[in-house]
Amino acid sequence: MENDTPDNLEDLFAHNRSWAARMERDRPGFFTSLVKQQTPKYMWIGCSDSRVPANQITGLEPGEVFVHRNVANIVVHSDLNALSAIQFAVERLKVQHIMVVGHYGCAGVKAALEGARIGLADNWIRHIQDVRDRHRVLLNSLPEELRADALCELNVTEQVVNVAVSTVMEDAWSRGQAVSIHGWAFGVHDGLLQDLGMTINGIKPVESLYKAAVQRIRYKWSKRADAPQADADPVQAAP
Ligand SMILES: [Zn+2]
Repeated sequence: MENDTPDNLEDLFAHNRSWAARMERDRPGFFTSLVKQQTPKYMWIGCSDSRVPANQITGLEPGEVFVHRNVANIVVHSDLNALSAIQFAVERLKVQHIMVVGHYGCAGVKAALEGARIGLADNWIRHIQDVRDRHRVLLNSLPEELRADALCELNVTEQVVNVAVSTVMEDAWSRGQAVSIHGWAFGVHDGLLQDLGMTINGIKPVESLYKAAVQRIRYKWSKRADAPQADADPVQAAP
């Protein structure tokens, strides 16, 4: 195994060199302009899962999206890493949109649902278990195979609220800064993003948007539970 490692890493450097050369050939001056500044309009808060790369999914280039990722796209009020990233994005980069992006088949969400013990991460995943417990009635009303993906969407909704009530966002909106927060879910099985309709721009009260989003999730998944087996969502095929 040890002998393989240098070769594999050398591949990455080789890919990197050819990518940089291709970019410079197709768009001379691309990197020089990046050096001067980054002016992304978007901040992406997503899961660390290797199948959910922000730039590739959205077709955005270097310099166009500011990214923060952690296990199961969680925003906790005491997480200085996430809060610092959000503050930098909003106050310095002046992003116009922050999207919290969950994904179906998320191992972190599954572990939270099953109460599986992993190790240190259990304490991180505990935040999703709080979401699970808050929506226990809704989740228990669904067939077991749909619960993880429903919880993925509920988790996104909760994390959008967590961003919205942060001091960074309160300050931004009180200054009149135009910045919206969105809740999306990504399908590893089909490569498509879905807007969960949880968009907050500081004008409408968070509480009513949150309740409406949870209602939509309840409706969507209970309808799916009633659907004939043949129409079962391919989401479940995700590894
Ligand atoms: Zn995940």
